[in-house]
Amino acid sequence: MTPASGVHAHHHHAETPGAGRRWKRHAQQTVRDAGLRAGGGRAAVIEVLSGEECVLTAQEVLDRVTRKGGPGGNLATVYRALDTLHALRLVTRLDAGDGTARYERAMPGGEHHHHVLFPGGEIRPFHDDDLEAAIHALAERLGVELTGHDIVLHAARPTTD
Ligand SMILES: [Zn+2]
Ligand SMILES: [Zn+2]
Repeated sequence: MTPASGVHAHHHHAETPGAGRRWKRHAQQTVRDAGLRAGGGRAAVIEVLSGEECVLTAQEVLDRVTRKGGPGGNLATVYRALDTLHALRLVTRLDAGDGTARYERAMPGGEHHHHVLFPGGEIRPFHDDDLEAAIHALAERLGVELTGHDIVLHAARPTTD
């Protein structure tokens, strides 16, 4: 192992089996409870996101919907569906600093964060128990009740990668 690959080793936080299916049921129920139609483009977007463990752009979501033979949607439909799911807190939105929003299903208890490698902007997930503990300890010191947090690390791409 080169020193660089050791330094930049990252951990994929393995999800518990069935997390995608559980999220899908939860998302469909939440959409119904909000009085929204579950059909059409929205259902197709939920289906795609349930099978993904990390972020996708709207274009990537559309590509997958099309590949699955879903209803002939377009980018505007996908963006509308993603906005709705985001407003319902069913998906989280990642701003990686390149002007393109990315989305993934919200994973209560199975969250991960991302680091972005520059140049190139490649996005990689990580989970770190020490970081989570530090954030909760910080909230306690600040005397605030934490309802969420966003972390994006910006990193230089190792030249040997
Ligand atoms: Zn992710
Ligand atoms: Zn966290």
